[in-house]
Amino acid sequence: MKTTGSKSIRCNLRGKFKKQYELKKDKQFILDLAVVGDFVDIEMNDDGTGTIGAIHPRKNHISRKAPKIKGASYRGERLEQIIASNIDNIIVVTSTFNPLFNNKLLDRILVIAESSQVHPIIVINKVDLELPDIDFWQELYSSIGYDVYLTCVPSNVGIQKLKEDLKGSVNVFWGASGVGKSSLLNVMYPKLDLKTGEISKASGKGKHTTVTAVQNEVDDDTFVIDTPGIREIDPYGIKKEDVGHYFIEFENYIHQCRFNTCTHRHEPRCAVIEAVENEEISIERYESYLNLLDTVEDDMNF
Ligand code: GDP
Ligand code: ZN
Repeated sequence: MKTTGSKSIRCNLRGKFKKQYELKKDKQFILDLAVVGDFVDIEMNDDGTGTIGAIHPRKNHISRKAPKIKGASYRGERLEQIIASNIDNIIVVTSTFNPLFNNKLLDRILVIAESSQVHPIIVINKVDLELPDIDFWQELYSSIGYDVYLTCVPSNVGIQKLKEDLKGSVNVFWGASGVGKSSLLNVMYPKLDLKTGEISKASGKGKHTTVTAVQNEVDDDTFVIDTPGIREIDPYGIKKEDVGHYFIEFENYIHQCRFNTCTHRHEPRCAVIEAVENEEISIERYESYLNLLDTVEDDMNF
């Protein structure tokens, strides 16, 4: 935990800040209720450690559904896993290749950013590797209104500009394993000296080198949070009827649908479907929307 003056104090959590979930076969799952980015009050112990006594209200937080745990009895709910709080930007890091650019995962993180009111910034890293569609993806996300950075770690392309734009903010780096989050952070802030993962030849997926989210102060008023790489992501607490609002380019059309309960899937006179047919909304984004809608609906019958 950081104090003012950048002192690091190892802290433990009072019982009231741990939520205990009973699993089958007498197992338990404990979720910490204090997360990276929280402002907390601590009491000092004699041995120099601290005990967290209060968590201040959060400006915002980003979360996902906790991955399914074997043997867990969820009773219809999947837990919320908060990744970080009190943040300004989510840097959604993707790569051209190895791992292959995954627009569905990117769109899911964008939905989390939009629903949490955190500003997203898209990075497409490894532009030194071949991806024929790279211009298409850059153009697509820029045209919707997102900032897209093309970067390459070995040749240091695009990275200084990104660093300048992150100055003075709290920035979470999020994305799949192996896309180059730690490598980018090391080039921007060499003092961090984060461990980077070799890509496993067999799977083409990175090894998990970052195990918990860590916040680092990289200069007086700039913070970066490196997070463990993810394979999949299910947004938490998003209602079916709200999904469309988090695909920001749908906003201009949603209000013109015939039915105000329109899910933009098969309803007659749906302005979103018409916009897809007229190529005003991209088919790729629309498919991501349908994919996410299915996930949200599946959960309701969980
Ligand atoms: P993380 O899991 O997202 O933190 O990814 P890492 O930073 O550990 O990087 C995974 C692998 O990708 C490492 O072997 C890096 O050397 C490699 N890598 C990172 N950036 C680039 C890049 O721009 N181009 C290429 N070709 N490889 C990169
Ligand atoms: Zn509609």
